[in-house]
Amino acid sequence: MSDNRTPAEDQLKNFKQLHQPKPHVLTTIEGCPVGEKFNSMTIGPRGPIVLQDIKLIEELAHFDRERIPERVVHAKGAGAYGYFEVTSPEIRKYCKAAVFKDVGKQTQLFIRFSTVGGESGSADTARDPRGFAVKFYTEEGNWDLVGNNTPVFFLRDPIHFPSFIHTQKRNPQTHLKDADMFWDFLSSRPEAWHQVSFLFSDRGTPDGYRHMNGYGSHTFMLVNSDGHPVWAKFHLKTNQGIKNLDAKLADELAGKDPDYAIRDLYNAISSGDFPSWSFHVQIMTFEQAKDFRFNPFDLTKVWSHKEFPLIEVGKVVLNKNPNNYFAEVEQSAFSPANLVPGIEPSPDKMLQARLFSYPDTHRHRLGANYHMIPVNKARCPVYALSYRDGPMCVDGNLGGIPNYLPNSFVNIKPNPIYKECPYSAQYFIGDMDRYESKDDDNVTQVREFWQKVLNEDERNRLAVNMGTNLSAAQSFLQLRVIDLLKNIDQDYGSRVEKVIKGHNKLLLYYLKLNIRN
Ligand code: NDP
Repeated sequence: MSDNRTPAEDQLKNFKQLHQPKPHVLTTIEGCPVGEKFNSMTIGPRGPIVLQDIKLIEELAHFDRERIPERVVHAKGAGAYGYFEVTSPEIRKYCKAAVFKDVGKQTQLFIRFSTVGGESGSADTARDPRGFAVKFYTEEGNWDLVGNNTPVFFLRDPIHFPSFIHTQKRNPQTHLKDADMFWDFLSSRPEAWHQVSFLFSDRGTPDGYRHMNGYGSHTFMLVNSDGHPVWAKFHLKTNQGIKNLDAKLADELAGKDPDYAIRDLYNAISSGDFPSWSFHVQIMTFEQAKDFRFNPFDLTKVWSHKEFPLIEVGKVVLNKNPNNYFAEVEQSAFSPANLVPGIEPSPDKMLQARLFSYPDTHRHRLGANYHMIPVNKARCPVYALSYRDGPMCVDGNLGGIPNYLPNSFVNIKPNPIYKECPYSAQYFIGDMDRYESKDDDNVTQVREFWQKVLNEDERNRLAVNMGTNLSAAQSFLQLRVIDLLKNIDQDYGSRVEKVIKGHNKLLLYYLKLNIRN
């Protein structure tokens, strides 16, 4: 019987066999030995509890504080440790980062996968993008590549982000997911439709976290040892092969096994079936970017693989489950601002906003010293002299080292070899203003996706997935979406329209039945 059990099911059994700590007296949180803790202290067996039952009070008070604020997005996730290994020297031409130094060099890492819109108890198989966040513990500090399983995103201007997320979450009055909110926002922002098309395609419901690609999505700047910059995008391609859940199975699993993806990752790693991804980079020179036919820093667009071929860099392998979910996965904190010498931001507006927003949310969720939590802690010496004190300062606070700069009492100072790479402001020419980008080309790449990337079956499934979901929204929103889709490709719009009409007919039929009854 127990032969059929998975490592996740056998966690307690395995713990008992492998890690049983030496016998020890139970203690309080301060380490004091406990004599009895299975009964509250009362006046007589039926009397009230006395205030001096500090063991009960300690137990409840700590329990009351067990939860920390849930992530506003990416609340439900799974994490694992592993390593990155350089497999090709090509990247050195473009990037001086120590993590890419020599073929064969390994760097430890931690990855957190997640869904985006659902709460921490929501279903892993929901139709949603998946977060794909990698923390490389490099010898030059932590580099976080905080991406998704899609190469693009719904927005190109971060000012829309909070509203966008509100529309993917719950109605402020009913506290229900709301199809009107969802489709109203998306049909008002034409730049969203590349990602919306991915979302309702097969890749919108990946089969767990091992069978999907990861993308850094943003454009970054790489700088080589000569100080020469280029623009770059990062890709992680699954070595397990792309595998998706069909919509019906994804819905069934949401009820039967809402933790499907967490379980799958845990069991695979525990069984020694280590998932891996090949790591690639696309490079665009400054010259190419200058006159490029679209904004190379627009997060709603891809760089064509044909024009900017993927260059092999290395591989990522996950080989160790966390020992404690809360300490390591829940408290992990990734930020696109965690960059190392040789990797810098681009002017991508979404990236620029995330550089602020991610550390800001971690300060709220985990506190100002979140970088001291072991999963987040750099694995190289840290001499951030002026970052001191604050709540939960648990690493010695740099002891007696002076806490100001410049400083005549210690030989710790910046080294200009690590200075950011300057570049011309040619990308920013223009007046300071608020620029509407609605009329940029929002169509070409979505059309290409529909016409050339998807096959006939995939197109049909996309139309059914989208039409079924859209049929719950008001008809003026359905019409707005259909117009928008027909502008991308007549066939795309017509197929979704057909699905909606089918649903409406059924609805009409049921309504009639109800009226007759
Ligand atoms: P290519 O034909 O060179 O690349 C198409 C890419 O699409 C593939 O390499 C694959 O990327 C991805 N893909 C294949 N099947 C699917 C699918 N069923 N659902 C989602 N993505 C799929 O053309 P381009 O690079 O010029 O891109 C053409 C279109 O492909 C784009 O407009 C975009 O919609 C889509 N695409 C492009 C990607 C890119 O980075 N260039 C990445 C993903 C999609 P992968 O190997 O990353 O899975």
